[in-house]
Amino acid sequence: MQHYRMDPALSSELAAFGGDTLGRCFSCGNCTAVCGLSKGDTVFPRKIIRYLQVGLSDRLLESPEPWLCYYCGTCSSTCPRDAEPGELMMATRRWLVSKYDWTGLSKRLYLSEAWEVGLLAVVALFVLALFLVPGWLGASFGFSAINTSALEHVRLDLFAPTGVVHYADWALAGLLGLLLGINALRMVLFVRKGYGSLKTPASIWLGKAYEILVHGATQKRWLQCDNDARGRWLRHFLLVTGYATMFLLVIVFLPAFQREGAEFHYTAIFGYYATAVLLGVTLLAMRSRLKKDEQDHRFSHFSDWMFLVLLFMTALSGIALHAVRLLDLPWPTYILYVVHLMIAVPMLVVEVPFGKWNHLAYRPVAQYLVSVRETAQASQPAPAPVTRHAHAVAR
Ligand code: SF4
Ligand code: SF4
Repeated sequence: MQHYRMDPALSSELAAFGGDTLGRCFSCGNCTAVCGLSKGDTVFPRKIIRYLQVGLSDRLLESPEPWLCYYCGTCSSTCPRDAEPGELMMATRRWLVSKYDWTGLSKRLYLSEAWEVGLLAVVALFVLALFLVPGWLGASFGFSAINTSALEHVRLDLFAPTGVVHYADWALAGLLGLLLGINALRMVLFVRKGYGSLKTPASIWLGKAYEILVHGATQKRWLQCDNDARGRWLRHFLLVTGYATMFLLVIVFLPAFQREGAEFHYTAIFGYYATAVLLGVTLLAMRSRLKKDEQDHRFSHFSDWMFLVLLFMTALSGIALHAVRLLDLPWPTYILYVVHLMIAVPMLVVEVPFGKWNHLAYRPVAQYLVSVRETAQASQPAPAPVTRHAHAVAR
């Protein structure tokens, strides 16, 4: 039998992550009863709140449930004690992110605005240095590569050659994928520990792997929530298609997407789509957070605002860059190119492995882990029927 240690500091730790209403909950269970996503063996949020109250941090680490909550807010709006269970689940997710992250950076970023702004600034200055200092990455580009012809017309082939930018994109994507992958693997190991002696053959792990892709691409469980689930799911889905489109344009199609002069290429249409979606959805989310008119936007952590502001600024600087390039204005194009990267690269470096973006990985992985557990439980041999003789002995 597994023994769990009680952690008396857990509730105050959670308060630092934004969950300071724990003491109001009197465990009535209403929140679990009204939650449209709580079913079968994955019941929440009361169970998770109970773990928090009694300091069972190891049980929390073994729980995929916080990632199955889509923060629809039904539980918060019906809690008789105003304990804000939806917000407690949100704070638990931040706490979990800080535990999955082996570097310890997530914790610092969630608990310190100075750390978050400071790290973003350091990465932005690194990007600026790449363009200011000649000879970095063993190639000639940036401000030192600007010659007479690059002052007459926009010459991105000199200022930011596609080959150099493309390799840098791949290196960045590889690094972020590695960091996020290690953290996701740690999450799997934590949750796997909670399976106890349950046998989970490799065939089940492999056979259910497709669920990560399905849930990652569609987030379809969200549609089972109440509270305008379709509208909120659609906005989120559009945002994800915006990221995915921009990712493909930059990582796969950059040679076609980054063009000289005003010549039109069909890839621009995808760029317009991604930019419109990022701008539109982030504007709507910022408006809702300011007005606090949606249940999930009544409380905003600093990291929520940073995420939205960085996305919005990335899209806006991308539009400005596109406009000055089409107008063939060399200096504004070069300057805005660097400004755009000084926003986009820090956002990716800080938010993907250590901040808000990583929920895109943890949610589908949690759903996968639940499916693996359910399939493994269903495949266990049924207990032997109790014979009359055995029954008599047992009595
Ligand atoms: S959070 Fe509210 S609804 Fe849920 S168990 Fe506690 S008091 Fe009840
Ligand atoms: S916020 Fe919605 S999905 Fe999350 S626990 Fe509450 S009712 Fe369930």
